[in-house]
Amino acid sequence: MIIDKADVIVTSPGRNFVTLKLTTDDGLTGLGDATLNGRELAVVAYLRDHVVPLLIGADASRIEDTWQFLYRSAYWRRGPVTMAAIAAVDMALWDIKGKAAGMPVYQLLGGASRRGLMAYGHASGKDLPELFDSIHAHLELGYRSIRVQTGVPGLKAIYGIASQHSEAEDSRGRYDYEPAHRGARPVEEDWDTRAYLTHLPGVFEAVRNEFGPDLPLLHDGHHRMTPIQAARLGKALEPYDLFWLEDCTPAENQEALRLVRQHTTTPLAIGEVFNTVWDFKDLIREQLIDYVRGAVTHMGGITALKKTLEYAAMYQIKSGMHGPTDISPVGMAAAMHLGLAIHNFGIQEYMQHGPKTDQVFEQSFTWRDGMLHPGDQPGLGVELNLDEAGKYPYERAYLPYNRLKDGTVHDW
Ligand SMILES: [Mg+2]
Repeated sequence: MIIDKADVIVTSPGRNFVTLKLTTDDGLTGLGDATLNGRELAVVAYLRDHVVPLLIGADASRIEDTWQFLYRSAYWRRGPVTMAAIAAVDMALWDIKGKAAGMPVYQLLGGASRRGLMAYGHASGKDLPELFDSIHAHLELGYRSIRVQTGVPGLKAIYGIASQHSEAEDSRGRYDYEPAHRGARPVEEDWDTRAYLTHLPGVFEAVRNEFGPDLPLLHDGHHRMTPIQAARLGKALEPYDLFWLEDCTPAENQEALRLVRQHTTTPLAIGEVFNTVWDFKDLIREQLIDYVRGAVTHMGGITALKKTLEYAAMYQIKSGMHGPTDISPVGMAAAMHLGLAIHNFGIQEYMQHGPKTDQVFEQSFTWRDGMLHPGDQPGLGVELNLDEAGKYPYERAYLPYNRLKDGTVHDW
């Protein structure tokens, strides 16, 4: 199993995806997701210019050794570009190993620890009627756990609200399926933390009154609060029994979560922008969070995220892997295999790709009664249709950014 060929494929069936395809001398192929939303071509260059030349002629069976070699030999470690590139190689090697063994990847990771993966979707609306419609629509799609995002009076455009326009062809017109805007510059959104903190508890009260006490509800703060603001929100939401409050502060300052934790019993999830176990180290060891939000695609692959989640398991912290549509079907499959195998699975984010993406990436996973399963095809269970992929060339796109009312740039 010598790596003969390594292709980096960029396709944009409604949104940009970067895929690494490895081919061995005995004809096996493996796919890895290297998509970094809004900065895709940086990972393409990292792979094509610096990693692919090192892979040709390498032994495809040596997953751990390849990971350590790519991480340590670069000397300049970590960061989203580096770790997305390493992740793609790691996923592709697991895919090849599964095909060589004739087994789905989850079997190689220790076998299934559960029947399927509870997954949550994204309901949102600019006001309560629109939000309720969105929650009903998600229940009809089979979701049994739902993230709730809402408009805030006085703010025109904010993160996660489906009523905002999306230009992405595959977004079903819903902004929250693809906030990245195709164009020369990022779109500007507005933000006011005080208005948000005043409005949000009433929204959750209304949702609980309408949908009852049993439906697991989640909310994403998207890194926009200070620690004391996040503490106040967590406390205010306690009566509504959230499954989690996500990304309540800009999490690169791990200490901030100590203050939040002292004030609220609302469970906390964090880390979709993290790249290595080092970003989670203090949060896990001090039990400052309840769910690890790392993505296989951005955390260096299955090999690295599995270790991080096993470390988290020692502290009764569970997985909550990042999985919106900026993770390609290859990255989603990797998350499903890992989530099925580990003991401390919590929940999987799952937004559903559009029909064009599903034609580019042929997939074997199933979605039934609120549960995902990666399927039993050897490897990851995803194949890339190159003819379909070739129909959709890359288009530059940027995620939005925020300004406060006085013009100050704020976390988006
Ligand atoms: Mg998030």
